[in-house]
Amino acid sequence: MSSDTFDASKIKLTGAAPSACSSCYGQYPERLHIDFGAAFDGPVLFGKDGATLGQVDELIICDECLRAGADLLGLRSQGDLEAQVATLDAHAMTLAEKLAGAMVYIRKIEDAFAVRPEAPRPKKR
Ligand SMILES: [Zn+2]
Repeated sequence: MSSDTFDASKIKLTGAAPSACSSCYGQYPERLHIDFGAAFDGPVLFGKDGATLGQVDELIICDECLRAGADLLGLRSQGDLEAQVATLDAHAMTLAEKLAGAMVYIRKIEDAFAVRPEAPRPKKR
């Protein structure tokens, strides 16, 4: 997908973690990061001792920040969807078993009605 102002092909997973996430400014080498291929004039980050840690000038977002944004859009992770599908499959299986039992019961009731003797009709006066 692309347009004059948007090119999805420039959005990529980074090979290594950046010096800081552009959203939370955290350094999380264990997280995945998405590079949106967009530069901006971001802040200079300082450590507790006042040392310069680096400047955030590329839009690179960690997976936790991206997930929080995706939640706001109503997007769900593949794992969440797979867990929901598994729950719904189990529920459907339970309902199918209950339906099979109910159909057996219905068949027994229909068979019983089929062989019952006719009730005597009241005599006409
Ligand atoms: Zn982040």
